Amino acid sequence: TGTNTFNITAIVKHFNIAGEIAGAEAFGNGHINDTFWLKNQTSGCPDYLLQRINHHVFKDVPGLIENIRLVTAYLNSKMPGEDSGKSQKVLKLIDTTDGELFHRDADGNYWRVYLFLAGSRSYDIVLTEQQAYEGGKAFGYFQTLLSDMDPQQLSETIVDFHNIRKRLRDLHKAIVENAAGRVDEVNAEIKFVSEREKSMAVIYDQGCEGLLPKRITHNDTKFNNILFDADDKAECVIDLDTVMPGHVAYDFGDAIRTIINTAAEDEPDLDKIQINIPLFKAYAEGYINEAHAFLTDAEVESLFLGAMLLPYMQGVRFLTDYLQGDTYFKTAYPGHNVVRARAQFKLLTKLEEQATLLRQIIIDTVAAHKSRYKEEQN
Ligand code: ADP
Ligand code: MG
Ligand code: MG
Repeated sequence: TGTNTFNITAIVKHFNIAGEIAGAEAFGNGHINDTFWLKNQTSGCPDYLLQRINHHVFKDVPGLIENIRLVTAYLNSKMPGEDSGKSQKVLKLIDTTDGELFHRDADGNYWRVYLFLAGSRSYDIVLTEQQAYEGGKAFGYFQTLLSDMDPQQLSETIVDFHNIRKRLRDLHKAIVENAAGRVDEVNAEIKFVSEREKSMAVIYDQGCEGLLPKRITHNDTKFNNILFDADDKAECVIDLDTVMPGHVAYDFGDAIRTIINTAAEDEPDLDKIQINIPLFKAYAEGYINEAHAFLTDAEVESLFLGAMLLPYMQGVRFLTDYLQGDTYFKTAYPGHNVVRARAQFKLLTKLEEQATLLRQIIIDTVAAHKSRYKEEQN
């Protein structure tokens, strides 16, 4: 969607913006919202980021905005002062002239404005261990600050987002219906999924049984949802549209899924799909460095399971869509969804092959931090 499709000037007028906006430029690599950089021409006044919220994905925009308002207020209340050595920032929503935090235009579009974090950048692909470590720290710190906020305060903006039992029910329904007549092509993939159904439901089931706590989690821990400063330090966790109650293992797993894959999410040549273990270690160290103090033993135990679950769940969703005739995910060619599913299952196979080593990395890192933490307390 180009800038000229919308009357940006008219939209911007509804927000309490300082100075005069010189223009709007489509910005960033997000896949969900339409994002525009509002450049300020008044000296001393900040730039802003305008977003049209995708209300097809998010059916309850007021609920989503309320979640962000509550979470950013909580983060601010817990953020230590400048002298703490922490330099993380919190996204700031700008209010409208009506005192709301979003504006709904005559066409039914929902708009919001954030303060623009100048001089920052995001990475679509992790290049170095240092970046992975910083990314782990950013999401770990985010979860730590929110670890004692009551998750019941937030609404579930996408119901059953990480409910693997629901995702598997959808797959079974798609197999039975066989709407696109493709079931016979994917017998091997269906078998792969079936063999793992029980083990992959452990996090969900433990959550239902109260063995794993519900926390407030980010739920879209892609790497480009962290802004880095000029020194490549994580500066701010962004894209809070999916913050809602969840399990920490989901955030850990989705970050690992996107960081450690040496190939693209839809790589057709399965031999190219390998896992980058140094990046796994770096992310885990950064994450645990921040999160060890609040994680329960059961949560620590769940982390590697989360790393296996997220590619599994993503693969199940691609496979389901393939069987339904490609109705949900955008596809670039026929068979794209089954290529994506196979790539995710290959990634999971690689994780399974290295499970002992990867689990041990987590256990060792947690143990090192817990003992250091204990020493510091004494
Ligand atoms: P999407 O849900 O579409 O991914 P995001 O909220 O992640 O939308 O925004 C898209 C991109 O815009 C981000 O990847 C980042 O590069 C940039 N961005 C988002 N928020 C800010 C901000 N407050 N300041 C500067 N850049 C931002
Ligand atoms: Mg994003
Ligand atoms: Mg998003």
